[in-house]
Amino acid sequence: MAISVKVMRRPDREVSYLRATLKGMALTFSHVFRRKVTMQYPEQTEQEGFWSLSPRWRGTHRMLTDEQGRAKCVACGLCPQICPANCIKLIPGEDEEGNRYPLIYEIDEFRCVFCGYCQEVCPEEAIHVGVHYENAEYERERFVYDLERLCAQTHPVSTLWDPSDPKGE
Ligand code: SF4
Ligand code: SF4
Repeated sequence: MAISVKVMRRPDREVSYLRATLKGMALTFSHVFRRKVTMQYPEQTEQEGFWSLSPRWRGTHRMLTDEQGRAKCVACGLCPQICPANCIKLIPGEDEEGNRYPLIYEIDEFRCVFCGYCQEVCPEEAIHVGVHYENAEYERERFVYDLERLCAQTHPVSTLWDPSDPKGE
């Protein structure tokens, strides 16, 4: 598309700005009668159906659990390895049958850059970024989510990409 440039020259004589002012005010007032597109958050919320997040949204993490309610994580160590913000703490454990599980698994949501790499790399589809953003806290320590808290999250998990629009076009 060709780009045109409009050159605005300074008037070389005395001019009245009244016409330009009225034109500007008319434009402003014309918006009073148009449909509002601004979102009145938090008075209007997603839950009330006023708007919706993309299924690709990457927000607060969630650890998925199996039928017994145990975290699906097998403490393989891939997510802390790939995390560019170095905000995942994992201390692996092993039961008497040789099954690995996380003794400690924590994510610092404050340091996280929500890249979604942890979700992409997880072989068990255990850890996910979530379609969720209301995670404000008064204390910094509260941003460190331990395994129990990660498992207790119930919000939807991110698809990371839209299957009907894989290239994001
Ligand atoms: S989303 Fe990215 S930055 Fe956040 S915990 Fe996962 S890998 Fe680390
Ligand atoms: S990649 Fe998945 S299975 Fe491996 S440590 Fe992370 S959450 Fe656990």
